[in-house]
Amino acid sequence: MKKKQFKAESKKLLDMMIHSIYSNKEIFLRELISNASDAIDKLYYRSLTDKKIKVERDDFKITIELDKEKRLLMIEDNGCGMTESELEINLGTIAESGSLAFKEQENKKEKGKKQSEEVDIIGQFGVGFYSAFMVSDKVIVESKSIDEENAHRWTSTGADGYSIEECDKKTVGTKIILQIKEDSEEENYSEFLENYRIQSMIRKYSDYIRYPIQMQVEHRHLKEGSKDEYESHIETETINSMIPLWKKNKNEIKEEEYHQFYHEKYMDYEDPLQVIHTSVEGQISYHALLYIPSHASYDYYSKEYEKGLNLYTSGVMIMEKCSELLPDYFSFVKGLVDSNDVSLNISREMLQQDRRLQLIAKNIEKKIKSELESMLEENREKYEKFFAAFGMQLKFGIYNNFGMDKEKLQDLILFHSSTENKLTTLKEYISRMKENQEKIYYACGESIAKIDLLPQVEQVKEKGFEILYLTDYVDEFVIQALMNYDGKSFINVSTGNLDLDSDSEKEELKKENDSSKKMFESMQKILENEVEAVRFTNRLKNHPVCLTASGNISLEMEKVINAMPTDEKVKAKTAMEINVHHKIADKLKKLYKKDNKAFENYTKVLYAQARLIEGFTIENPTEISNLICEILSE
Ligand code: ADP
Repeated sequence: MKKKQFKAESKKLLDMMIHSIYSNKEIFLRELISNASDAIDKLYYRSLTDKKIKVERDDFKITIELDKEKRLLMIEDNGCGMTESELEINLGTIAESGSLAFKEQENKKEKGKKQSEEVDIIGQFGVGFYSAFMVSDKVIVESKSIDEENAHRWTSTGADGYSIEECDKKTVGTKIILQIKEDSEEENYSEFLENYRIQSMIRKYSDYIRYPIQMQVEHRHLKEGSKDEYESHIETETINSMIPLWKKNKNEIKEEEYHQFYHEKYMDYEDPLQVIHTSVEGQISYHALLYIPSHASYDYYSKEYEKGLNLYTSGVMIMEKCSELLPDYFSFVKGLVDSNDVSLNISREMLQQDRRLQLIAKNIEKKIKSELESMLEENREKYEKFFAAFGMQLKFGIYNNFGMDKEKLQDLILFHSSTENKLTTLKEYISRMKENQEKIYYACGESIAKIDLLPQVEQVKEKGFEILYLTDYVDEFVIQALMNYDGKSFINVSTGNLDLDSDSEKEELKKENDSSKKMFESMQKILENEVEAVRFTNRLKNHPVCLTASGNISLEMEKVINAMPTDEKVKAKTAMEINVHHKIADKLKKLYKKDNKAFENYTKVLYAQARLIEGFTIENPTEISNLICEILSE
């Protein structure tokens, strides 16, 4: 037997192969199984035209065997096999792909075939086979070709070359025998000798190989009549499910099938809220099976959560959680895309910059969006369930990236409406706006109930305007990012100038404020300039006092930002407004004239009240409580 060297450049490539092309060792099995499947395809395609080749489709299979003691992993197929010279060419030259040549030749023969009828073979780079050396010290390939009488054995321990000799193999096909490496400190190779581990690798990467992948599986069960004695028997089982659910005809798939697939693949016990199954043919073809979960997983809103869709080509998984396929704001979607059109790079791993992948991603985004829109329109209850789980993510999407995506998302968000007393879209709000209404009113607070009791809300409600109640801490940032909707700007009912009064009311108020100027200045001093201004207002109906903010930071934002665990603290520019029609207005005026001490106490108590109503704390609760008692006992 003659020992041969790999061609010079092959040596380098092999070294790269083992050490750097693949980031993930376990894919070697996927590569070898894909080769086996290709070999079976080739024999099958040949049998269609060559009547001398007699094969039964049902006999095709890929068999995997483990020998733990000898540390052997064997993969056998009954495909076309390789002749001596094919062994030499295909396995002696790295980056020589017999499969690509075959595919090109076959597809050339019958030009004008539809894409879906084209020969669908996985291999194309001529490197996958060598990934076996990532986990093996030695690789033996025994092969008998359909075209040659004798079988041959190819043996290699890696970079130092290979040898080919005749061997005894009766059946047509190929058997690959891997001598699995010993464990090292960094790597545990023995796992590749564990039955359950190999099974899970098959299911993960090669579940949709169209031929059965069989293994001996041990079943243990209690001995009949015994409580603690077990017996086991061994059965040959097909590990892969073969037919991808998403390639079946939609009409033939039951809802339970979709759900079962979801439970198994995405580890969620609950049924998904929505299944999206699409197949696109055209400039770019793909199948997509997508799920919108019914609830956010425990890690969804954490850094640990990884978005992405699994990417398949020709039924083989080439990338888990391909993040390029989903925009951040739809990161809750689970599922997969299967396309033969994405250009794979050599390791079938990194394809970030692929233009066709981006095209698929764009289509998928549109599809998800339109599904959500129809859900919103046709099944409000379902949409609200969706929104409860993932609405926050849509809101993040609106203000992230400087509001770049806000137009896409603004019709998918919901806020509580004061008049409808349920969630509403902005579009619906606009459709209900009164004739003389210029702005979209909103109010912020911890809960619907608390907002509803805010003094500032009262006047706007009184005038018959609808108010959006914002209870999520991100809501105001969303509003700021949106700036306006359908040409209408947003206005916080707690900001200084709502401009709801009639001209005569305004006149009246201005007079009142002007004549009490001195008093307000004195109150401001008593409050040590905590507020930018004190004034009378028309905006309160029954309440005596409130705080309003002007400038970019609202009262709610001050609370939210200051509650964050950073050093950045902010303060809203606030004014204390006193109800001009309330008894307290006259009382203050009187006290200001004659009783300095009482005037000071009243001012402090009023300010504390205003802060408490707004949901702020007060710095001096003991002092305030004493003051209240003093006033009560007068
Ligand atoms: P690729 O599969 O991308 O072409 P590989 O390095 O995995 O590259 O394989 C090189 C070539 O060796 C294949 O194209 C094919 O012609 C041949 N080959 C590999 N495995 C088998 C097999 N099990 N049966 C027949 N031919 C095989």
